[in-house]
Amino acid sequence: MNHFKVDELKNVFFQFFVQNCGHTQISGSSLVPKTDDSVLFTPAGMHPLLPYLVGDLKHPSGNRLVNVQNVVRTGAINQVGEGSFLTFFELFGAWIMEDYDKVENLSNVFQFLTDDQFLGVPKEKIYITYFGGNDLLPDDYDTLLTWKKIGIESDHLCPTKKNWKGPYSKDCICGPNTRIFYDTGRAKCSDDCNVLCSCGKYVELWDVVFFDYIFKNQTLEKSAHPCIDMGAGVERIASLIQNTPTIYDTDKLHEIVKAVESQMTVPEDENDLEIQKKCRIVADHLRCSCFVLGDEVATQPSSKGRGYVLRKIMRRAIHNADQLGIDISSYDGIISKIIDLYKESNPQLEEHKDFILEQHHLEYDLYKTTLKKNLMKIEKIIHDSDSISNREILNLFDRFGVPIDMIKGVAIKNKKLIME
Ligand SMILES: [Zn+2]
Repeated sequence: MNHFKVDELKNVFFQFFVQNCGHTQISGSSLVPKTDDSVLFTPAGMHPLLPYLVGDLKHPSGNRLVNVQNVVRTGAINQVGEGSFLTFFELFGAWIMEDYDKVENLSNVFQFLTDDQFLGVPKEKIYITYFGGNDLLPDDYDTLLTWKKIGIESDHLCPTKKNWKGPYSKDCICGPNTRIFYDTGRAKCSDDCNVLCSCGKYVELWDVVFFDYIFKNQTLEKSAHPCIDMGAGVERIASLIQNTPTIYDTDKLHEIVKAVESQMTVPEDENDLEIQKKCRIVADHLRCSCFVLGDEVATQPSSKGRGYVLRKIMRRAIHNADQLGIDISSYDGIISKIIDLYKESNPQLEEHKDFILEQHHLEYDLYKTTLKKNLMKIEKIIHDSDSISNREILNLFDRFGVPIDMIKGVAIKNKKLIME
């Protein structure tokens, strides 16, 4: 396997799809969706391209496109710092808007993943899932035959009815997908462990969706514009080919985590998993806030909508940094590091650097002032009550936005019983 760094990986990705497959490289879209109010941030690479994928519009750059799209997803924000969870990440995406040929497409994907010139993943380590049928449709026999033609053995091919994507909204495209996994070589978690198991033995490398259908008037119809959406998470692939224990150990994220660690004033202990997790949270959240603030569509922290999500991310970063003994005087160095790491592929970060730094300082000061005021209010509430339960602590968190461990600290200081 080729141990490409993230930037090399992006170059190889573009080189393959542009030169070998005739795709046109386009830039990623803003993190702020231009036409869809139902989501606050762009959640996937195909999202900004939906009008072209459904066939309503012709893309000016043609029928075959490729890009890296920045996305923000905060659904698993509490798990950031563990394994592979991030609030901001980059996605590799490649699309064929019409006239796709399944054999040509899957052969290309297989070459990108396994050829020594490109990712060089050993062929025998590849396992594949495909749509196994449901109440409405039979299994995706065509995809099964194609993979066999490419040379995948039957015991590396697994049907599942889970391999179906969409529809994402009313009258929207949908269809079967085929997912390509890498066998890490770890021991099976049980006798039943196979490519569908989530124990971590099999890691997803690539996902190809065949949008062959449209869900209209509650019925599934064959689409007049069958198209392909495919891709993978940049960090996820980087972690796999760099053979790192987590995505936080891939080259760029590791640099940010190191920048955070270098500012820490609490005693460093490599074995302290709590400290390690806090460093990763600060690294992820500051990277996310830099990209949101530095986006072509400006978002500022506020009390509603997108601004509220940004504020939540920034304040979680401040709270975790506080616990590492990192105050605002160290932020500029970490933020400058993040901008330096990404400015080549994301020049908007350098352009908006002053704004990014200013907003972090303003939010820090505002948070500290609000926190002080709210802590005093909480102190009074707790002082005046006989005891406080976990549920009441959660209520205080919802009302005042003060971190739960700080509220618990006040309860303990006031010798109020915390009932489990
Ligand atoms: Zn397993």
